[in-house]
Amino acid sequence: MRRAPRANPYRDSWAGGLGAASAGSTARVSGWVHNRRDHGGLIFIDLRDRAGIVQLVFHPENGTELFAAAERLRSEYVVSVAGAVVLREEGNVNPDLATGEIEIQAREMTVLAESATPPFAIDTDADLDEMTRLRSRTLDLRRRYMVDALVLRHEIVRTIRETLSDEDFLEVETPILTRSTPEGARDFLVPSRLSPGNFYALPQSPQLFKQLLMVAGYERYFQIARCFRDEDLRADRQPEFTQLDLEMSFVEEDDVIDVNERLMAKVFEVGGLGVPPPPYERMAYEEAMLRFGSDRPDRRFGLQISDVSEHLRDSQFKVFASVVANGGAVRAINAGAREVARKELDELTEVAKRAGAGGLVWAFVQEDGSWRSPIAKFLSQAETAAVTTALGAQRGDLLLAVADTASVAANALGVLRLELADRWRLVPEGRHDVLWVVDFPMFAFNEAEQRWDASHHPFTAPTAPGGNTAQDLAASDGPGAWLSRAYDLVVDGWELGGGSIRNHDPAVQRMIFGAIGMDEEEAQQRFGFLLDALRFGAPPHGGIAFGIDRIVTLLAGRDSIRDVIAFPKTASGSDPLTGAPAPVDARQLRELGLRSAAAPGQ
Ligand code: ASP
Repeated sequence: MRRAPRANPYRDSWAGGLGAASAGSTARVSGWVHNRRDHGGLIFIDLRDRAGIVQLVFHPENGTELFAAAERLRSEYVVSVAGAVVLREEGNVNPDLATGEIEIQAREMTVLAESATPPFAIDTDADLDEMTRLRSRTLDLRRRYMVDALVLRHEIVRTIRETLSDEDFLEVETPILTRSTPEGARDFLVPSRLSPGNFYALPQSPQLFKQLLMVAGYERYFQIARCFRDEDLRADRQPEFTQLDLEMSFVEEDDVIDVNERLMAKVFEVGGLGVPPPPYERMAYEEAMLRFGSDRPDRRFGLQISDVSEHLRDSQFKVFASVVANGGAVRAINAGAREVARKELDELTEVAKRAGAGGLVWAFVQEDGSWRSPIAKFLSQAETAAVTTALGAQRGDLLLAVADTASVAANALGVLRLELADRWRLVPEGRHDVLWVVDFPMFAFNEAEQRWDASHHPFTAPTAPGGNTAQDLAASDGPGAWLSRAYDLVVDGWELGGGSIRNHDPAVQRMIFGAIGMDEEEAQQRFGFLLDALRFGAPPHGGIAFGIDRIVTLLAGRDSIRDVIAFPKTASGSDPLTGAPAPVDARQLRELGLRSAAAPGQ
C-alpha cells in the first residue's frame, strides 16, 4: 500500500515561495536568520531559505516567551517558525522582495541551531576579498549572489540534459582514472599502488572514449564531464573544469552544428542572453585573424583591422618596406576621433610590445589630410592618403599600425583592440554576438621541435584542397596546406566550445600521428586501442565540447568562473577551504613506491 506523504516537522512551505495567494493560511517555514530588526515593540526577522526570504513578525502579545526567544536570535541562527500568513498593509509592501506582499505573524518557534558570528555579512552582495570568501565558502555559498549562480547553472545543465535526451542522445560516463588524452596540456597523474611505478592520467577530455562509443555503435553520446588539465592558470581557467562533451555518428560539420545551435539557443534563452535565433554566422579562421586579430573575435564593437601592406610596399620608410618585402604585413586600426595623450599612446605601445610586436605606429589625421605622427616625414603624401582611405579615416581620427610577420601583427592588434574597448568602454551594454569560427589550419609548425602540432587535437579530420581521403591528403602540398574540419562557437569574444569531424579512416589517423612526429611504434603504444578500434568498422563521426563553467559565467554576467563553481580553486590551483594540495604521509608515499624530491610546501 502506498504510504501517505509524511508531514515534515520542520516546514510545510518554502520561505521564499510564499506570496499573496498564501495569505489567510498558516505556514511553517525553516531557515536561517538573515537579519533582525527591532521596531516599536515588534521584532522583524528576515528568514532565508534557498528559495528566498520571508519576513516574520513577533508581537509581544503572541506570547512573552516566544517574544523573548525572538530577541535572542542572531544572524545565521537556524529556526523553524509557524504562524499566520497575512497581507502586509499597503505602505509596508516591499517590492524588492518576491514575498514582499505578505509576512508571517509568528506563533511558535524552535531554535534548531545557533551560529557563531559570521566573518562577513551574508545579507549583502558586497564585494569581499576572494581569499576570505574561499576560506569560508560555506558562508559565502549562503549569499544570494552564489545561490543565483548555482541555480542558473543547474537550469542550464537541466536544459542540456533534456534537450539532448529529446534529440536521442545517451548520457554515458567515461573513466576518470585513465591514460593520457592529448588536448595540449600537461596531465595530472595518479600513482598506482597495485602496479608500482605506473600511473593513471586524469582525463583532459573524454575524447577517445567518446570516439570508441561511436565505433561501438552508440550513435549519439553526451556527458557532463569533469576534465583535468595541469596548465598555468589564468582568470578563466581551473585545473578541473566541466564540459558538455558530445559525439555523433554519420555526420558532417553541418549536422553537428545544427544540433548544437538548437541546443545553445535554448541555453541562451534560459540564461536570458538576448541574441538572434540560429543559424549563427560562420567565419573562416583566416578572416577572423585578419579582421579581429583573434580566433575568437569579439564583434560587439568596431575597431576592425585592415591590411595596408599593399600601399606601403615601396615606402621610403624602411621598416614598412622591408617587412612587406620579407613576406610580413602592415596592419592597422582606425581608432576613431579621440584626443589621446602622448602618455596613453606610450601605454598602448607597451601593450602591443607585450603582445609580441616590435612597436606601434600612431598617426592622427589632420585638417588637411596629412598625418601628425613620428613617421609622417618618411611617408609620401600618396602613401598616407592611400592608408587613410583604406582605413575609412576622417579628420581627427587616430590610426594605429603594426608592421611584423602577419601573425604577430594580427595578434598584437587583436590584443590592442580588446584593450581599447576596455579602456574606452566601447562594448554597448546588453549587446551580444554569437558566431562559429571554421576552416582552421590543421597544424601549426613547432619551430623548436621541427614538427607540426595539431591546432585542435590529432583526432580531428583534415581536409586538403582536393578532398578528405588519405589519397587526397597524400596528393596535396603537405600538412601545412591542410585545413581541419573543426568548428568553435564564440560568444562575446569567448570560445564557449569547440569540436570537429574525426578521422574514422585509420590510414588518415596514422598520417596525422606521423605529421606530429609520432612514429608507428609510439602511435601503437599510446593509441593502439583507438587504431585497433578504427579497424573494426568505424562510422564517420564528429562532436564538440562546451565549457560549462564559461557558459554559466557568461550567462550569469559574472567576471570570474570561480563565481559559478561551488568549490573552486584559486588562480594558483589551491583550495583554501580544504588546504589542497597538501603533503601526504611518508607511509602513503612508500605504499605507492614514491619518494618526494620536493620539501613539503614547495
Ligand atoms: N575534446 C575536445 C576538447 O576538449 C572537444 C572535441 O573535439 O569534441 O576541446
